[in-house]
This record gives sequence, C-alpha cells and structure tokens, in this order.
Amino acid sequence: MSQLLDGLVVREQSGFFEIEVADGTIYTCRLRGRLKEEAQSSDIAAIGDRVKIQTADDGTGTIEEVAERESVFSRSVRTEGNRGAGAAEREHVIIANADQAMFVFAAAQPSPSLKMLDRFLVVGEKSGMKRLCIVVNKIDLEDPSVIEQHFGPYKKIGYSVLYTSALAKVGVDELRQQLQGKISAFTGPSGVGKTSLLNAVQPGLGRAVKSVSEARKEGIHTTRDSALIKLEGGGYLADTPGLRTLSIWDVEPEELDAYFIEIAPLVSQCRFGDCTHIHEPGCKVRAAVQSGEVSKIRYQSYLQLREELEEAYAVY
Ligand code: GDP
Ligand code: ZN
Repeated sequence: MSQLLDGLVVREQSGFFEIEVADGTIYTCRLRGRLKEEAQSSDIAAIGDRVKIQTADDGTGTIEEVAERESVFSRSVRTEGNRGAGAAEREHVIIANADQAMFVFAAAQPSPSLKMLDRFLVVGEKSGMKRLCIVVNKIDLEDPSVIEQHFGPYKKIGYSVLYTSALAKVGVDELRQQLQGKISAFTGPSGVGKTSLLNAVQPGLGRAVKSVSEARKEGIHTTRDSALIKLEGGGYLADTPGLRTLSIWDVEPEELDAYFIEIAPLVSQCRFGDCTHIHEPGCKVRAAVQSGEVSKIRYQSYLQLREELEEAYAVY
C-alpha cells in the first residue's frame, strides 16, 4: 500500500472529485465506500475540503478521509422523491473552508435587494468564514449619496464594503488584492457584474467561472458540478452559482439574532431571556431600532427571516 497523500478538493463533478496535491498534480478520485455510508444529511466532501487520498498507478485515487471543516458555506436544498420518508431538506455545501465571502450587488441596474444581502450575511455569519465583504459594483450608474445611504450602514456595523465599477475600472486592484492568497466564495444575484469584475481582475477569469456554471445547467439531472479556480497571484475562487436565493440551512428561529452582528450584543439586555424582539416589553433591540442605533431596514430583514424560519420549523 502506498502512502496517503494530502490534497484539496478543487472540483466536484457527478460523484468524481479532482484533488490537487502539494506538487500540483491533480488526481480524479471517488469516495471510499465506507465514507458514503455515513449520514447523508450533508455532503461528505465538497470543494475546499482537505482530504487524504490513496492513489493508484493510473492517476486515479480514493478519498480516504475528509478533515474537519473550519467553515462551511452551505444552503438548504429540497431532497428529491421519497415524500414522507427521510428528511425533506438537506445541506448542500457550496464551499468548505473558504476564508472569506464576497457578496456582490449592484448600486443600480438591478437596484440592490438589501433583503437578499441580509440573508447572505446571515448565512455567511453562520458559516464560520473569517471575513465577509460586500462588493458594490456599477457605482458609475448611481448617485454617490444614494449608494452611501444603502451601503453605509453595513460599513458602520463592521462589514467591509468595497465599491467598484468593472466598466470604469474602479476598485479592481483592491478587489484583486483582497482575493490574493485566499480561498473565496464570490457570489451575488445575476446581472450585477460578477463576470465583468472577475474578467477585470484577471483576463479570462470570468469566463472560467461561468463555464463551470454553464456545464452545470446542461444536464437533465441536477448533477453537482463546482470548482475552485486558481488565481494567478495565489489563492482560489469558488465558482458559486449566481444564487437567486439562498435557503438558510440549520438556523433555528431563536438563534437568528446571533447572526445579525449589530443586534447580537443587545440581546442579553432584553428583559426576557427568550425575547423574540417582536413584541415583548423591555426589548433592547426594539429600543435600539426606535433610537436609530439599529437600522430599520436590517430589523425588517430580521423580522422577515424570523417568520420564514418559524414557518419552516412549524412543519415538523
Ligand atoms: P453577472 O451576471 O453578475 O456575471 O453580470 P455580468 O458581468 O454578466 O454583467 C451584467 C451586465 O452589467 C453586462 O451588460 C455588463 O456589461 C454590465 N456591467 C458589469 N459591470 C458594470 C459596471 O461596473 N458598470 C456598468 N455600467 N455596467 C456594468
Ligand atoms: Zn428583545
């Protein structure tokens, strides 16, 4: 038996995994059978996972071990078939061990959905990724004061906000710098300029990411196909599909306040330990909304997501 090699999952396609090892060689691997027997409520391996593989002479291999994840950026997906039997939802790991997420929105055309941004931020906070950055593209299309009005509050509560224009080449160097040497998820609604931005960062990068997404759409079956694209200056970018929505995985209604970073520190000051921040007297969160310390828009997002989670949990 040869030694096990350490590697990184750089692509997953229909049950096959491409694993990059230290010398840059890529091995196409399958999961060892016994790994597949484990609980299936989540993905056993996904892009970004650090694995140990057993290689064969023909360049193929088997994934023997998957290391514990430092962060998991995931969403909830409906399971197919088998109504009534087994769970209705499962966790789809978009990327494991990402250092950061860049959530891309447009200043205008399409006008930014802050509700969606707040949803992304909740999922980002839940994931354990060290850094979440909001990229505001197409700043050439909107009045600076309007842009500031939308995104300034996010900077104020502690998020990095990067203003860019792929068209006017604003903020592109800074974006490139921020991606360098890191494993990043790069996602946002379609049409906001993700492809254009990536092409400005590195020629052909936008196309490389898009071609993975296109390949995914072609199959009749929703087979998994995702990849980490290597950056010239070091680091990887995950091809994360242009998410139209992001269903929240495994967040209970009662824990939602922990993922609103400006609300979380107030919760211990509410009169009731199990305060929902919706109607209770002595609620510090509502007081903070009244005084303007917490933005009304963020609070509205909290209420809306809370309702969504309550409904999801009520089914069981
Ligand atoms: P994606 O769907 O997020 O990948 O968005 P694309 O990169 O395909 O861009 C969508 C449209 O927005 C295209 O017509 C781009 O030319 C345009 N676009 C992208 N970035 C900018 C920008 O910074 N300013 C302006 N005015 N248009 C942009
Ligand atoms: Zn409260």
